[in-house]
Amino acid sequence: MSDIRDDVKADFTELFGYEPHGIWSAPGRVNLIGEHTDYNEGFVLPFAINKRTVLALGLREDGVLRIASSFADEVAEIAIADLAPSALSGWSAYPFGVAWAIGEFGGDLAGVPGVDIYIDSVVPVGAGLSSSAAIESAVALALNDVWQLGFDRPTLAKIGQLAENKAVGAPTGIMDQSASLLGKQDSAVFLDCRSLEAQVVDLGFAAAGLELLIIDTGVSHSHSTGGYASRRASCEEGARVMGVPALRDLSVDDLPRAQELLDDETFRRVRHVVTEDQRVLDTVRALREEGPTAIGDLMDASHRSMRDDFEISVPELDLAVETAIANGAVGARMTGGGFGGAAIALIASESVSRLQVALDGAFAEHGFGQPVTFTVSAADGAVRES
Ligand code: ADP
Ligand code: MG
Repeated sequence: MSDIRDDVKADFTELFGYEPHGIWSAPGRVNLIGEHTDYNEGFVLPFAINKRTVLALGLREDGVLRIASSFADEVAEIAIADLAPSALSGWSAYPFGVAWAIGEFGGDLAGVPGVDIYIDSVVPVGAGLSSSAAIESAVALALNDVWQLGFDRPTLAKIGQLAENKAVGAPTGIMDQSASLLGKQDSAVFLDCRSLEAQVVDLGFAAAGLELLIIDTGVSHSHSTGGYASRRASCEEGARVMGVPALRDLSVDDLPRAQELLDDETFRRVRHVVTEDQRVLDTVRALREEGPTAIGDLMDASHRSMRDDFEISVPELDLAVETAIANGAVGARMTGGGFGGAAIALIASESVSRLQVALDGAFAEHGFGQPVTFTVSAADGAVRES
């Protein structure tokens, strides 16, 4: 009975006083490569991880939504008729925002039953593994099922994104929800952020004796919001000067002309995005044709590009990457939006514990707080569990 699904069922029953109608879950995600390419309508290659947010849901006879989480003390409550971004705040804006966004996408909420939901999760919050997409995707799938709305998974991803953009107020792309909803075991999700076409790409880590180690630096920088906004602005400026709708429309062959037309800083921002898009394409081809040991140089180059051109790394992330490579990683890079968060290292299974010790030593030597390190594998996306 130690399974989180059993715990969630028991906790639901204790809190709401009746047995839930069903259990749903959705995973967090890690981005293997393709950073700051999503809002430039380019390519990303995330995968769903084997850490999930699980919820139990019960049907009510009225039009009220009640939501509780192991993270929070209070039970949040709202009438379906009152759902609006301005009425939502705090953690419950994520799940209630999904219910609101379903209506925005044309879901008929008139007459649907209210629900009680209890949520538990082992997705670390704020470590760049998208606990936010996990909660959104689990709620979106569950409501889609019990309200019999018939939305497909790409649309549920858009519903989660709308909730995060408008109900929570975070200007994020579609990557996280797509990974959480479309992920497949041992595979990554190759997503074209313009067409939203998604392909599943076999990772083959286990067969190659490799593991992906997450190195959470624990650093969160106060200027990440401002840094994100200024990077987005530089990308928009670069696209405008180059006369294209989005940086996606440039290739590495356009970079000499970009260098002539743009100031140095804007050029380097553009060069990161254009080369990163190419690295995603190259990574997908390498995985398909040669297997995962062939993607290491692309991961390393991605990190250098974010460090030197996009300037979103921090010393802790650089140290994590350098230490990983010095200890035999196939490849390593910071992952996520930058200014803190986590790095990833692709490394032989038998070298993982040696790297973990080396990271602890290197961080201590530099006077940095100890990183939290753990391996993840690629898992299936959101499912109804029972
Ligand atoms: P992350 O990188 O983990 O996605 P975010 O800041 O985007 O970080 O989202 C984290 C927020 O999502 C939390 O602060 C909380 O409001 C909400 N959240 C995530 N998981 C849960 C959960 N299991 N229960 C309640 N709220 C959650
Ligand atoms: Mg998030």
